[in-house]
Amino acid sequence: MNPLQAPIVQGWCPGALRPMQSGDGLVVRVRPRGGRLTPDQARGIAQLAAVHGNGLIDLSNRANVQLRGVTEASHPALIDGLRGLDLIDTDAEDEARRNIIVSPFWTEGDGSQEIAAALAQALSAPHAPNLPGKFGFVVDTAVQPVLRDVSADIWLETGAEGLLLATPGPLAKPVTIETAVPAAIALAHWFIAQGGVTEGRGRMANLLKHCALPEDFTTPRRPAVARPTPGMQPQGQLVGFEFGQMPYETLAALADLGPLRITPWRMLLIENLTDAPHIPGVITQPDDPMLRVIACTGAPGCLQAHAATRPLARALAPKLTETLHVSGCAKGCAYPTAAPLTLTATPTGFCLIRNGTASGTLLREGLCAADLIETNILNEFP
Ligand code: SF4
Repeated sequence: MNPLQAPIVQGWCPGALRPMQSGDGLVVRVRPRGGRLTPDQARGIAQLAAVHGNGLIDLSNRANVQLRGVTEASHPALIDGLRGLDLIDTDAEDEARRNIIVSPFWTEGDGSQEIAAALAQALSAPHAPNLPGKFGFVVDTAVQPVLRDVSADIWLETGAEGLLLATPGPLAKPVTIETAVPAAIALAHWFIAQGGVTEGRGRMANLLKHCALPEDFTTPRRPAVARPTPGMQPQGQLVGFEFGQMPYETLAALADLGPLRITPWRMLLIENLTDAPHIPGVITQPDDPMLRVIACTGAPGCLQAHAATRPLARALAPKLTETLHVSGCAKGCAYPTAAPLTLTATPTGFCLIRNGTASGTLLREGLCAADLIETNILNEFP
């Protein structure tokens, strides 16, 4: 019997107005407009996390900022504080639809921020498509697109000869800066009309398994590029965090350095900063071993987890030569795509998966954390 039990799939992502219960309280997800926080907003989130949450702040793979450990009692005051920072939508429905990841490498005048703002506005308009909670958009319209591999459904991205409208897959359709947003909204309506939504759920990749794209999607997309690593970028310093999590003091310290751009790689870009910051817990070196491991919240912070994940990932990091994903269950929240190595917790120990997702084909099962740490078992599978 496969020990990977089917996880509970919620079918929606937490928001600020509609938080999700976790093992350490409510998870409140803030969606910064244009993927950017001003210093005042970042400082404000840090203070609110300290006062109304447990002080821990996550960066999500949807380029959002999550406050953890919020209670039913503290949630209303937290929302008031976030509203004062201009980080709250009109209602939970608008918030859920505004699921937009923006390339952190945009520059003034390249249109990225304008497209993202227009898309957000279109998604909250009266006749906006009624999309499932996990349906997401990408605005990757800087010189070099970098977000082809993120979890999303519709992309607006830079192609070889101009802007493109794309879905998961190799082909796209040319658009202009003026037609980009209307074309993205039209494609979202097409997704619904083709039966992409069932019981409030649905993703474009699933629809495209049995439904062809409109025939004007004939332009090849540019190939995916490697995930960026911490260091200097033309727009500022890119910095990482162990498991994409930081205490509120770290965010407050970063806010003093400049505006922050949120990335889907659980890193932040500090605008216009030329020297690497020296802040405890902030990863500035591309070869830091902690960048080789990805781990979800795990036990006890997640109610679905079968084991703790982060202590194991931390212990294994120095031994690794390739990326390892440690998942508390088969859902694989922290890394929905295939990783070179994955350890998925089950009620009977960890399962090892090679080049797969957290619910992929098992190579070994029943592994215990202590044996994994003491032996070289992970490096025995080419
Ligand atoms: S993958 Fe991790 S965070 Fe997601 S539900 Fe499973 S245990 Fe929880």
